[in-house]
Amino acid sequence: MSLSNIKKIWIGGELKASNDALVHCATNTLHYGLGVFEGIRSYSHNSSSYIFRLDDHIARLFDSALIMNMNIPYTQDEVKQAIKDTLLANNLREAYIKPMVYLGSETLSLDTRESSVNLMVLAWDAYNYADGGNKGIAMNISSFTRHHVNVSMTKAKANGNYLNSQLALREAKNCNVDDVFLLDTEGYVCEATGANVFMIKNGVLYTPPLSNCLNGITRQTIITLAQDKGVKVVSKRLTRDELYIADEVFITGTAAEVLPVYQIDSRYINNGNIGELSQFFMQEYQLLVRGRVPQYIDWNSKVNIT
Ligand code: PMP
Repeated sequence: MSLSNIKKIWIGGELKASNDALVHCATNTLHYGLGVFEGIRSYSHNSSSYIFRLDDHIARLFDSALIMNMNIPYTQDEVKQAIKDTLLANNLREAYIKPMVYLGSETLSLDTRESSVNLMVLAWDAYNYADGGNKGIAMNISSFTRHHVNVSMTKAKANGNYLNSQLALREAKNCNVDDVFLLDTEGYVCEATGANVFMIKNGVLYTPPLSNCLNGITRQTIITLAQDKGVKVVSKRLTRDELYIADEVFITGTAAEVLPVYQIDSRYINNGNIGELSQFFMQEYQLLVRGRVPQYIDWNSKVNIT
């Protein structure tokens, strides 16, 4: 199923055939980008579907909306139910799920106090972050800078924030790499276009602080996994050349999962080989998202889809 084959979309409180799930041309979010969303994934195992860290994603959606002054007219439980209903209506076990909160078409003014706040939920079967597979991906440092904390609200997963990511990703593809690291306004490594950053040096796991990147749920998951394995985790500012000489580098995200980086700015990391800890995180992540690691079973919301 591709995007064009989606059967049902949850919009405004009901499931509609995708051709009937329409928004008005004057939809305020479409014009200026003030909206918030989540990227969530469900995984299939033993004829069930497991939505990964649904509670955390929905909590972040509501945090994003609060930051953006949007009052979601549903409870968190209602949004979770809408997501489960969307999976069932599309008969999807393995899915990428995107709830999006957007402003209606009452006004095209920049003053959005009169705008209605609406919700849609899309789910489809695949989202390929990059074509690295198990080999990993090649990345550059972007010529674009990541948001300044007082220009755009980086704790919000806000639609408009992704203009910066789209520009950077297009540039990356034009330069024949898979993705880019964006530096913050002070020149430190911030995040990838849609993923957080980790590096390993001498057995210690490093990741940039959250000051101006998204508080990734996969990032939180990897930190927990590392701590439970006894790996020291340090959150500190990283420079681009620290990444060049790292033992291992990988990026994390709901779409990217755990994706190793074998090359940065034409320099091979670990001679282009995936390191041991990266492999451990990649494998463990694939098991736990499918509800196969008892220790982390609380992260999985089971949906029975026959
Ligand atoms: N940073 C950005 C900019 C992202 O878009 C994402 C993907 N949502 C992430 C980090 C990773 O977040 P998560 O692990 O919650 O998907």
